[in-house]
Amino acid sequence: MTTVPFLDLKRQHEPIRKELETAFQECLDESFYIFGKSVEAFEREFAVYQGAKHVVSVNSGLDAITLAVKALGIGPGDDVVTTTHTFIASVLGVLQAGATPVLIDCERESLAIDPGEIEGAITARTKAILVVHLYGRVVEMGPILELARDRGLLVIEDAAQAHGGRWNGQLAGSLSDAGCFSFYPTKNLGALGDAGAVATPHADVAHRVRLLRNYGSTQKYLHEVIGGNSRLDTVQAALLRVKLRHLDEWNRSRQAGARYYRERLEGVVEMPCRPREADSSDHVCHLFVVRVKDRDKVARRMAEEGVQTQVHYPLPVHLQPACEFLGYPRGRFPVSEAAMSEILSLPLFPGITREEQDRVAAAVRRVVGK
Ligand SMILES: *Cc1c(COP(=O)(O)O)cnc(C)c1O
Repeated sequence: MTTVPFLDLKRQHEPIRKELETAFQECLDESFYIFGKSVEAFEREFAVYQGAKHVVSVNSGLDAITLAVKALGIGPGDDVVTTTHTFIASVLGVLQAGATPVLIDCERESLAIDPGEIEGAITARTKAILVVHLYGRVVEMGPILELARDRGLLVIEDAAQAHGGRWNGQLAGSLSDAGCFSFYPTKNLGALGDAGAVATPHADVAHRVRLLRNYGSTQKYLHEVIGGNSRLDTVQAALLRVKLRHLDEWNRSRQAGARYYRERLEGVVEMPCRPREADSSDHVCHLFVVRVKDRDKVARRMAEEGVQTQVHYPLPVHLQPACEFLGYPRGRFPVSEAAMSEILSLPLFPGITREEQDRVAAAVRRVVGK
């Protein structure tokens, strides 16, 4: 019996192998590996896709968050409110910019930042709200944008899991002062290595990210600010240009797969983080998460049934050893802490077959005894 893999990138790349090879060969011909023409071309094309005024590419999602926070003028002495139930990079970006992350709980139904908790976390030091579109579902932005406007705060989106997802017709990452993207290989839009980008409506913010990603310089050997090296490689930009053309079709495949799981597993397991929209446009299904009692045992039994699963994430940020210094005790965020031992991500990726999904659903039924 073959295993149902959690993810199979080979399957995703096989149909576009020729396109990827051609893009790579063009890079070899050009031989301009840093800031070659594909970098600007990808930024232009991703900006058009996003409906964003400016896109600046960087070398990872973490650097996208770090440089966006810095470029927005947020640093030491400033607070950024965000959720504890996320990948640690959301919080590390704030820390690397020198600012202080102020963590709040997630909401039970979506496992995303609890909008009801934001206002209570705002103080005179608060400069921004960092929203994470977790698992691919775009957060309901209306009330958050309104609160930010009323309180004079900036809004930043961590859109690392939500490329192509929409709220109110607009794309995740283009709903705020800065949208931060990761193109880590497993994301909905992934490079063949590390990559990231910042989308912003503000010309000055885009300019500062451009400076910060390249030694504080946009003109050779003239350094306006202290910067670092967070550049996107030409090769990755060229490959991303190819893959961007397939993003919508891959997202539709994820959405269809998620619908199929929901039909098969209704009443069998709890399925949080459902799409709000009937057409799922608000949810690009980066992950398909179910909620079960005895999760570790369920995961073990699923493995015995030949199904790979993962957990996103087994420990919220405030309980990570590295973040102990932030001073949040165990018990502080009960919704996240309850979720961490019950959530389980099932295989879902463009190209997963219905037969594989049937095997996953049957295994879930057997394991949970329904
Ligand atoms: C993947 C991810 C990141 C970090 O992206 P990298 O490219 O790995 O640095 C940040 N936030 C979230 C929510 C992610 O899923």
